[in-house]
Amino acid sequence: MEWQPVIGLEIHSQLATASKIFSAASTGYGAEPNTQASAVDLGLPGVLPVLNEKVVEMAVLFGLAIGATISNASIFARKNYFYPDLPKGYQISQYEEPIVAGGRIEIRLPDDHIKIIDVTRAHLEEDAGKSVHEDFDRSTGIDLNRAGTPLLEIVSEPQMHSAAEAVAYMRAMHQLVRYLGICDGNMQEGSFRCDANVSVRPLGESTLGTRTEIKNLNSFRFVERAIQFEIDRQIEVIENGGQIHQVTMLYDADRHETRTMRSKEDAHDYRYFPDPDLLPIEITDDYIQSMANSLPELPAQKRKRFVDEYALTSKDAEILCEDRGIADYFEQATAASSGNPRLCANWITGELFAALNASNLQIEASPVGPAALGVLVSRIADNTISGKIAKQIFETMWETGQDPDDVIAEQGLQQVTDDSAIANLVEQVLNDNPDQIEQYRAGKDKVFGFFVGQVMKLSQGKANPKQVNKLLKARLDN
Ligand code: ADP
Ligand code: MG
Repeated sequence: MEWQPVIGLEIHSQLATASKIFSAASTGYGAEPNTQASAVDLGLPGVLPVLNEKVVEMAVLFGLAIGATISNASIFARKNYFYPDLPKGYQISQYEEPIVAGGRIEIRLPDDHIKIIDVTRAHLEEDAGKSVHEDFDRSTGIDLNRAGTPLLEIVSEPQMHSAAEAVAYMRAMHQLVRYLGICDGNMQEGSFRCDANVSVRPLGESTLGTRTEIKNLNSFRFVERAIQFEIDRQIEVIENGGQIHQVTMLYDADRHETRTMRSKEDAHDYRYFPDPDLLPIEITDDYIQSMANSLPELPAQKRKRFVDEYALTSKDAEILCEDRGIADYFEQATAASSGNPRLCANWITGELFAALNASNLQIEASPVGPAALGVLVSRIADNTISGKIAKQIFETMWETGQDPDDVIAEQGLQQVTDDSAIANLVEQVLNDNPDQIEQYRAGKDKVFGFFVGQVMKLSQGKANPKQVNKLLKARLDN
């Protein structure tokens, strides 16, 4: 029997606001425990939540970016459950009227195919606090700094059919929220994480199988491994005559296995009801229109434009559009390169990325700025320098922050393109190596490379290699 995995993701994306969703406490990461929890976050009696307007703006931007319907009137609901890190006894979330309904996103599969995944909804909610087990002996600490941090929960339709597809979807969402500037995307700090719902069914069957839900996956690798593990586990259970139970699970990365945490709650277990402390969020069409006008260019549009406008390969466009900072860098470099976008793309994805990686730097902090790189590229294109010398110049630029033209002038690195100067070098090399000339004439073609190398060396790498080849050939074959 062939099995089809079915996966739906609930992504929690922490919105990049300075203060919390219903209080003025800071959302900054890494503060001393419980120093950023106000009376509202602590759930003290008598306090009232006040909605942070910024989260509405961010949710609307997101909704527009995925072509969703923005609700003109959405409401907050209380999701009731008991847990030590939830002092109020309920989480403020949205249930019946989410702010964003529908929408879709394009994902690129490992085989380069494009697939559209539908989004069910995206709603606003507050995060809970954190239980801390490590620093305590037989007791648990509670840190409420995270309580009240704004989240946008993005719920997909169950339309992914492999772990790789789920990862591609999560990557596309990760890229989108960063493009929109609504989430910093820092997965290690938990700013972007997901719950994965997994089931399997016989291939060709249309009803869904019973699903399990793996909570809180905060790296692409864990998403991939946890889902794959769970798919394999479910198939094995069913093939051995067992049944899948609808449970909530945790992924243990150290042991690489999923473990049951509790049986799955149904919506009615949470006794949802509209939060009487908060008014409905009313959004006018004018407001939606003004948000639509402020949408930045999105990844898919940018990729297409890069291919059309700069004649890049779709692979290069994808790499350069991975992040807005990289795309901006590329466009600025190209503008300074006298019309050499493809060479700029090569240099950015080659030398620049390697140097950034080696120094563990983001592109924004690159010691070689986009304009300087563009000029360097234009000097290769107009034959002032060879590609090889350019690498040497790039290193100097990286270390000193100098302009490429200054480095070229200071170190006398202009390429030698004068035929008679190169012919002189060729003569000198031939005079010095009579034995090799004989070998070459006796049919040992490989010696030709030796001569090229010698001429280049004599010119300190500055001779134009094409001309060296041409002149050497002319001289030797006559
Ligand atoms: P909840 O987990 O909050 O009870 P939902 O029923 O809204 O909620 O489903 C949450 C996620 O689970 C959605 O992304 C949905 O696509 C996915 N999902 C639902 N049923 C299945 C299933 N049988 N197999 C895989 N994913 C599923
Ligand atoms: Mg769920």
